[in-house]
Amino acid sequence: MVERDTELRQTPPAGGYRILLVDDEAANLQLLERALHRDFQTETFLSADAALTALDKGASFDLALVDQRMPGMLGIDFLSRVRKTHPRMMRLLLTAYTETEDLIAAINCGEVYRYIVKPWSPNSLHVEINQALKQYELEHQRDQLLEELARANNALRSTNVTLDEQVRSRTRKLADTIDTLHAVYERFALAIRGANDGLWDWDIVSNTIDFSSRWKSMLGYEIDEVGNDPSDWLDRIHPDDRELFDAKLKAHSKGTDAQLLVEHRMLHKDGEYRWVLCRGVALRDREGQPLRLAGSQTDLTEHGFLDRLTGLPTRSVFLDRLAITIERARRRTDRFFAVLSVDVDRFKVINKLHGRPIGDLVLKEIAKRIKRTFRLADTVGHFGADHFAVLLDEIADVSDSLRAVERMRATVECPVDVDGCPISIDLSVGIAVSTSGYERASDMLADAETARRQAQGKGGRCSMIFDEEVNTRSVAQLQLDQELREALVRDEFRVFFQPVVSLATERVVGMEALIRWQHPTRGLVPPMDFIPLAEKTGFISEIDNWVMFEACRRTKELQESTGIPLTVSVNVSGRVLHQHVLIDKVEGALRQSGLEASRLTLEITETALIEDVGASQLLLSEIKRLGIRLALDDFGTGYSSLGYLNRFPVDIIKVDRSFVSNMENERHTVKIVQSIVTLANSLGKDVTAEGVETQEHLVLLRDMGCQLAQGFYFSKPIPIEALRKKLLDL
Ligand code: C2E
Ligand code: MG
Ligand code: MG
Repeated sequence: MVERDTELRQTPPAGGYRILLVDDEAANLQLLERALHRDFQTETFLSADAALTALDKGASFDLALVDQRMPGMLGIDFLSRVRKTHPRMMRLLLTAYTETEDLIAAINCGEVYRYIVKPWSPNSLHVEINQALKQYELEHQRDQLLEELARANNALRSTNVTLDEQVRSRTRKLADTIDTLHAVYERFALAIRGANDGLWDWDIVSNTIDFSSRWKSMLGYEIDEVGNDPSDWLDRIHPDDRELFDAKLKAHSKGTDAQLLVEHRMLHKDGEYRWVLCRGVALRDREGQPLRLAGSQTDLTEHGFLDRLTGLPTRSVFLDRLAITIERARRRTDRFFAVLSVDVDRFKVINKLHGRPIGDLVLKEIAKRIKRTFRLADTVGHFGADHFAVLLDEIADVSDSLRAVERMRATVECPVDVDGCPISIDLSVGIAVSTSGYERASDMLADAETARRQAQGKGGRCSMIFDEEVNTRSVAQLQLDQELREALVRDEFRVFFQPVVSLATERVVGMEALIRWQHPTRGLVPPMDFIPLAEKTGFISEIDNWVMFEACRRTKELQESTGIPLTVSVNVSGRVLHQHVLIDKVEGALRQSGLEASRLTLEITETALIEDVGASQLLLSEIKRLGIRLALDDFGTGYSSLGYLNRFPVDIIKVDRSFVSNMENERHTVKIVQSIVTLANSLGKDVTAEGVETQEHLVLLRDMGCQLAQGFYFSKPIPIEALRKKLLDL
């Protein structure tokens, strides 16, 4: 908008207003001139033509006062012509007639401003002329204003175009900025809200940084003790972390990294270094060049990032540091590092025996001891409970990490004295070494933890280095476990039956139920390929339960269809033996199938019995009470203590296949089998020989007094239908 003084003043041109006077009567002209010449510049013309000629020649006037009645041209016509050539001139008419229609029309359409009625007095003439000039001045100023307005409008229009363009581009930039700010906000909202962070804002163009007072106080400084120069920041970064910091800064500036995220140490006013987490995001121009960088600094030693009890970094901080180490090592191939996962053996027992407060004290002491073992550059983390981890920052090779573990054991594994009561401390340690080329911190820590669990599996106080092969095996086991569970649901298990033959009559008197897995792609899977895992995971109880029901049901059917009173032996895993539900399950299977208890034999290995002699004795007598028979399976492979034989109420001893097959070549094996048979018989127990494959086996065993036998010589384990056929054919 153009500012201007709007007050209108009559400002006559130098020498006064110029007035054109036209009248065909000289006397009138003289009178007019006389009345006006003192105040105005006047020029007189005796005819309209003469006046027009002067005007054509360039004479200029501010006002024309013309007589209406002139020969040749009426005053109105003259003024109407003048209006066209000199539109701004004020036009006044002198007339004796006041009410002619022409005159009114002329005034109405603006050709004449005013008319002065003859005879005029000098006073009224002055009043009229002055008013007209005032109007003239107003119009003049109005025109000037309009011109100015037009100019301003033009200027405005072109400014608008530029403005439009500017507004559009600014809007675009603003939208970009808002997007970036949103991203920044999202990334930092959490950190800033929760963690009482220090903030910084780096203007790249002027290369100055604003630090919030919290940023400064985090490092022990008052507001005015830190300047605005980048060096106020960068010079306080630990020399060992500077390279990484610069690299990270560059990577984000160039746009390679989506954000600046780097953990490093900052020099505190007290001369010590503090671990901080620096996060930032650049605001960029349209070309992607950073204009400013803004972000936060989190004090990692503050609440939330350190374990409350021990003051050690928590899992997330540990992982952050590990990520930094992995990153750093990517550029330095000569650098190795290792992660130790450390667990306190039987810590739960310590907690239970001595209570939580004592447990906490012990953990604190252990934390202190572990920390003492390692260098400052190493990171000791505490992930809650009795889980610790160590990041060995720089090691020469794998053996270095083992030596470090030994050092740790020497320091940590001494009894902790609590109120005069020594509590012994043992550690299980898993080690993952960077030579495996880890990309992700979580992978490396997970591997160390896997190795630690393996160490614990070995009974504790043990260290294991993570082994890819071992791990693959455990992954495979996990898969197998899953498959087994699905197999049960999909009804992929089968029970095969191997006949048990009386050596005296060589007739089938019973059979052993043996599980098979009809795998959709692998075919018939033998039990040794999945029973050991099922025993480890506990899924064996499901399997054994299923076999128990299936075997009883099938045997009852077979009895009925053949008319032969057969017995069936079912294997019971040591894992299932001491479960309270076993008796219920067995009773259930008998009830549901209608098989008499005396027709069922449970096969149990001696190892399983000996693990808990007292409980076994109780359980076995329970089973006996139901009228079920018991067999001691694989006899000779475990403790092989004949002394145990009379301690358990077993009915049958099953001599392991390895003895039978060795009888042919080894005289002393024959003697062992002979003594087993003799002893068992003297205790009133029957003996079943497993793995009878030849006629010689059969003869030898029968001569020893062995009652029963099973083996490929008679039949392999076969489906029930095949067995039925065999029985009916006999
Ligand atoms: P086991 O109870 O000692 O069963 C005898 C094993 O010896 C069977 O192997 C059988 O096929 C095999 N065998 C029998 N006669 C001969 C022979 O003349 N020569 C040879 N070389 N082998 C013979 P299988 O069926 O592979 O079962 C292996 C083991 O798996 C069983 O040993 C038993 O400990 C376990 N098992 C089988 N089924 C079950 C079950 O349902 N539950 C549990 N807990 N374990 C089972
Ligand atoms: Mg068996
Ligand atoms: Mg056996």
